[in-house]
Amino acid sequence: MPPDEPHLISESELALVADHASIGLIRFDAALRVRSANLAAHHALERRPGTLARRTLMETFVDHRLEELVRSAAAGESGSFESDAVDRSSILVRARPAAGGGAWVIIENISELVRLRRMRSEFIDNLSHELRTPLANVRLLTEMLMDDLENEEVSTRVRERVATIDIETGHLVQMINELLDLSRIEQASTVVRHDEVLVPPLVEASMRRLRTFAERQGVVLIELVPDDLPPISGDEERLDQLLMNLLHNAIKFSPEGGTVTVTTDEHPDGVVISVADQGVGIPRKDQARVFERFYKVDRARQRGQGGTGLGLAIARHIAEAHGGRIWLESDEGKGSTFSFSLPFA
Ligand code: ADP
Repeated sequence: MPPDEPHLISESELALVADHASIGLIRFDAALRVRSANLAAHHALERRPGTLARRTLMETFVDHRLEELVRSAAAGESGSFESDAVDRSSILVRARPAAGGGAWVIIENISELVRLRRMRSEFIDNLSHELRTPLANVRLLTEMLMDDLENEEVSTRVRERVATIDIETGHLVQMINELLDLSRIEQASTVVRHDEVLVPPLVEASMRRLRTFAERQGVVLIELVPDDLPPISGDEERLDQLLMNLLHNAIKFSPEGGTVTVTTDEHPDGVVISVADQGVGIPRKDQARVFERFYKVDRARQRGQGGTGLGLAIARHIAEAHGGRIWLESDEGKGSTFSFSLPFA
């Protein structure tokens, strides 16, 4: 080749390069047959090298959900799908529309990631279990100590120290319970119940339980849920937990004299439930992150209430396990509105 000619890579050279890549690549043509597939793709789909060429979608994938993914990509809609079978290797498949029709499919082996995720969950689960019993004992002993001190002549300083131990132990117990909850919900995110649940009693029940806390904070709770709202499909206990988390936060971050309002918005296929407060709000830069585990905006703002940073992570898992979504709108200094969607029964 003359030295000044543009250097084009031929298709066979590209195929050679692709065979050295560790991620699987498949190019489907407009008729959705395999035009080319690299070695890693054969490996990921457990095929002998060279046997994928000219295969149809159905012959390529065992899982029909992958077929759907590629069909959508060829129709212009990119997507991804994670299959984490317990006994086989786990793969992450991404599909993108290809120029000139058809689709590109990118397959990554994520078995190691899935194994680590499972290990993390199990580790948290075991650790929380181990910590629970001794902590429960410390808590019980602190309570007994407080009772004993009632009738004793001791200085205020001693009383205050014991009271602080009681409060801090309470925080630890709450944190451990939430950690356990989160790891359980993560491990079984697809197995929530799908009962018919009426929204108004659900909202009333969680508000009733938080009334004392709200009164102590000087916050007024308002419920604006129409009585004739059709039932939704869900797990009452989990949904109660979700609402309690949102309401508890809304009250906790409200100023004295503020209101916390629950409203609903009916859509053709479901309902959006919103919890609005007039509290400190959440800065824009933190808004995307508050649903992460342990994320807290600013520890100094919390009026000395502690908190684990797990409540919203749990809330998100519950909403998603119901096939819904959770999001927030917030103006710093003016308030926040957390909303989640649920399908009708
Ligand atoms: P925490 O136990 O700290 O409340 P969450 O996961 O429930 O944990 O919330 C994470 C963080 O998001 C909180 O620490 C707080 O900074 C912020 N946050 C949550 N809800 C509100 C709210 N209604 N108003 C202002 N900030 C909030």
